Amino acid sequence: MTPDTLAIGSARAAPGTKATGFLDVPGTPIRMPLTIVNGSAPGPLLSITAGVHGGEYPGIEAAIRTAAALDPRDVRGAVVVVHIVDVPAFHDRAIYVCPLDGKNPNRVFPGNPSGTASERLAHTLLTEVIARAEYYVDLHGGDLNEALVPFTIVLPSGDTEVDARTMGLARVYGIPYVVRGRVAGSTYSAAAQRKIPAILTEAGGQGLLDETSLATHLRGLRNVMRHLGIIPGAPEPTPAVTVLTELHWVASEHAGLFYPAVAPGDRVARGQRVGETRDYFGAVLAEVSAPGDGVVLFVVTTPATNPGDPLFAVAGPL
Ligand SMILES: [Zn+2]
Repeated sequence: MTPDTLAIGSARAAPGTKATGFLDVPGTPIRMPLTIVNGSAPGPLLSITAGVHGGEYPGIEAAIRTAAALDPRDVRGAVVVVHIVDVPAFHDRAIYVCPLDGKNPNRVFPGNPSGTASERLAHTLLTEVIARAEYYVDLHGGDLNEALVPFTIVLPSGDTEVDARTMGLARVYGIPYVVRGRVAGSTYSAAAQRKIPAILTEAGGQGLLDETSLATHLRGLRNVMRHLGIIPGAPEPTPAVTVLTELHWVASEHAGLFYPAVAPGDRVARGQRVGETRDYFGAVLAEVSAPGDGVVLFVVTTPATNPGDPLFAVAGPL
């Protein structure tokens, strides 16, 4: 990429400069805060997004700190950071969905410029931030109601060169579990369709801004930028990754309360009891068991549950 002025929303950064601003989603009140760090030498364009789910704080904080710390004089190429994507969800402390339309933005990509708020948000983020990137990292964690063991999600694009670059990002990010799985309508699936190497990284949960998860994201982003030659230095060594190819999400069939019997990171065998749902009077509605062998990636830790709500996920094989 030749150094050139970069403009997204109200932010405009000449080569060797940094700018902050907002990216408006037309037809909605959503204004996404963003930073453009435009380097002083040629290099790749990396886009980083956080807060696609508004209650996943370690990723949001890592985006804020990374954007603030980058010095454009040290940067080759450019880094675009969207600090919080779903701003209404952030302020409402809404789980999964954008409160303006009740939809999960990470299920509606590529979006629709004349659709509902989440669809418009997805369209704007994709066209302005994701599609113009050469590499893409989307920061997540367990939502306000979820505990999880950190994992990175990747999706095969059908192009071996792109997939090798994607795995390169996943390895240097430093999270040992890498899940290869498709979530339709997600940020990273939209990127993969456009042959952009992309990872979605999950660390943190339960509404906490904990130092361990924050450090995981900060180190991951620093390593990705070093790996791509955007900032100087070699990536810190990271543990070998285990690639998990079978991902099972389990949803509740009942309205009531969920009582998990496992914790994130536990290894479970197919058919093993993982928890149960009970009604308002304490009667058991259903025993919930593991649909496959593997590691428990996340568990919902708030008792309230509705039909169709996620309860936990298991990925394998180990
Ligand atoms: Zn998320």
